[in-house]
Amino acid sequence: MNKLELSIVIPCFNEEENVKKFYDEVKSLMGGGSLKLDNIYFIFVDDGSSDNTKNEILELKKYDNNIKYIRFSRNFGKESAMLAGLRASRTTLTCIMDCDLQDPPQLLIEMIDKYIKSNETLKMITAKRRNRSGDSVLRTIFSEGFYKINNLISPVKLESGVRDFRLIHRDALDSILEINEYHRFSKAIFEFVGFKKEVIEYDYIDRESGNSKWNFLKLFVYAVEGIVSFSTIPLKIITLIGFVIFALSSIYGIYIIIDTILFGNDVKGYPSIVTLISFFGGLQIILLGIIGEYIARIYEQSKNRPHYFIEYEE
Ligand code: UDP
Ligand code: MG
Repeated sequence: MNKLELSIVIPCFNEEENVKKFYDEVKSLMGGGSLKLDNIYFIFVDDGSSDNTKNEILELKKYDNNIKYIRFSRNFGKESAMLAGLRASRTTLTCIMDCDLQDPPQLLIEMIDKYIKSNETLKMITAKRRNRSGDSVLRTIFSEGFYKINNLISPVKLESGVRDFRLIHRDALDSILEINEYHRFSKAIFEFVGFKKEVIEYDYIDRESGNSKWNFLKLFVYAVEGIVSFSTIPLKIITLIGFVIFALSSIYGIYIIIDTILFGNDVKGYPSIVTLISFFGGLQIILLGIIGEYIARIYEQSKNRPHYFIEYEE
């Protein structure tokens, strides 16, 4: 068997309290021999942290040559940080993990074992939360709603609870890196590339320290991203709605004309006019918004801007 080496990509944004804990925990698995690896590399991607994250990582790096540190010139978001980390990986196996220990390092043992048992034929092993305990009711409702809608209209199906935490083989990774779109929705990209996959379920754990960087608005934007990145069905639905409304309003118009000719009209229509105006006003704004989402993507993509800028690396 070839040497089995793993790189762990760790996006970090203001994680000063978690960096060392994370590193120690993974290292202790290596030390205990439960991780059947010949070598392990850490790629910390500092997504423009404003706290002491940089020094925490560089301190660890003094004693471990297998640590790589990449710092962005500002905060570009986790998607970009993952991309930079994946690009920096040079090993057969790569794993993406959050710094806050919400992706249990123990699971890494299971992933590697599964990979070895499969005779190295598995190209992706994914972690999936067994339940949504720990999430607020609102977040749960919207998350589940997102997956339902996405799976209804997008050709790339996503499983609820699947995280970015996963083991990726070089074959799958090279394909993932070939996809160079500006608006990255990794969860769907990982599915899109195909390859033989397996899912491991685990119980959700709370963040080690600090707060989640997600709020409702960010999650909403992320969900829209997910849907419009992989499906043009919303555009088709718009056309359909347009036709239905056109047909209905034509029928209504004909009815009004006939009604006026037969029975006359003494300006009683105020309520119906106001209702119709506001209904169509609202509808048009929604439809324009959806079209706008696609145009925005064409615009951003046509500019061909890099996903991030690196300020410093060692
Ligand atoms: N993260 C990042 N850039 C950001 C936001 C988050 O690199 O703009 C990192 C963060 O440091 C953590 C991981 O992405 O390691 C997941 O973030 P978070 O814990 O906030 O998300 P959640 O676990 O709530 O989904
Ligand atoms: Mg987290």
